[in-house]
Amino acid sequence: GKHRHKGTVEDSCCDYETVDHLNGEVLHPILQQLVKTPFCRYYKVKLWCDCPFWPEDNMCRLRDCSVCECPESEFPDSFKPFQRTLSSDDLKCREGKPQAAVDRTLDSKAFRGWTETDNPWTYDDETDNSEMTYVNLQLNPERYTGYNGTSARRIWDAVYSENCPKYPAEELCQEEKILYKLISGLHSSISVHIASDYLIDEATNLWGHNLEIMYYRVLQYPNRVENLYFTFLFVLRAVTKTADYLEQAEYDTGNPTEDIKTQSLMKQLLYDPKLQAACPLPFDEAKLWKGRRGPELKQKIQAHFKNISAVMDCVGCEKCRLWGKLQVSGLGTALKILFSVNDEENLVQIIRMRNSTAKNHTFLFWGKN
Ligand code: FAD
Repeated sequence: GKHRHKGTVEDSCCDYETVDHLNGEVLHPILQQLVKTPFCRYYKVKLWCDCPFWPEDNMCRLRDCSVCECPESEFPDSFKPFQRTLSSDDLKCREGKPQAAVDRTLDSKAFRGWTETDNPWTYDDETDNSEMTYVNLQLNPERYTGYNGTSARRIWDAVYSENCPKYPAEELCQEEKILYKLISGLHSSISVHIASDYLIDEATNLWGHNLEIMYYRVLQYPNRVENLYFTFLFVLRAVTKTADYLEQAEYDTGNPTEDIKTQSLMKQLLYDPKLQAACPLPFDEAKLWKGRRGPELKQKIQAHFKNISAVMDCVGCEKCRLWGKLQVSGLGTALKILFSVNDEENLVQIIRMRNSTAKNHTFLFWGKN
């Protein structure tokens, strides 16, 4: 979209060229390294499908439903719920990659104390440690899975029509529009990932770009491209707003060499002079919720986003569910940082409470784009 999009990204303070340039020069190279660090590459998540909607849907009650939905299941056997009773020594990754095995020692390190759920924007049902699995995201890239049809369509329909007010047909206030744009930006991001890592030929297991999908699902719609940029900038603002906290945070996974690298990459990213000069305020959150109806509107939109996050449990393909949950959790964390925390001191305190999924997943969501 680089050649067709000019000027400032709507509702943001930065323009397309600047975003492309910053991403290419600074952000993407650092993020590519960051997502490979142990702190960022493990995701702790409840992948069992406890879908609160459509209880009649058998697919969601079957714990291994994903196996038939996804042509290729890359999940190491050790992460499958039914193997949970095995001791951690017995857990061997299907691919034989030792780094994919579940590392339970992370519980007392990186994930220590991560059971509090304190995000008013998300539906967190992640308090029971025994139900959580760890996923090595490096081994489970977001890409084409073959998930489509009525199940996928129903999720997107629910996300847009039940939870998001219609747009742009009806007139919306700015806050509602922003929620729509975040969801549409996420949808664009998912489509871009499908298009850039597609199963071109099943017989020979050939993977590659699918430019038709890229064009027909995203590029031909200027709004979808714009919303992707907007979502990127929104998350970038949440990250820069929490820079002081992220700089001091512990990135302890029990591997000092790697953890020092994580911290230094984090600093490099947060305080890059080019970033500060080119796009100091990617999104201005202070402008929102000002009207008389502000507090009421915030509650309403919070409830919408919470529903969207609950709907992610109904995604019928395990790998899609994984990335759906991760990305919605990242956006939920950004929403919390920008809209539910008022001053700096509060910010550090509230984030210190560590909700179960939030801390590094803003980065993970963002790092992929
Ligand atoms: P869909 O992408 O299903 O879109 C449905 C409708 O939504 C479109 O017809 C259009 O009207 C509207 N729409 C589309 N894009 C936008 C946008 N950016 N903004 C606003 N409106 C839009 N499939 C995979 O192969 N791999 C995955 O990792 C994966 N993850 C998924 C995660 C989630 C949470 C969900 C719900 C689905 C996921 N899917 C994944 C399925 C994938 O998103 C599509 O649903 C599927 O590929 C079928 O695509 P489609 O062409 O029918 O259009």
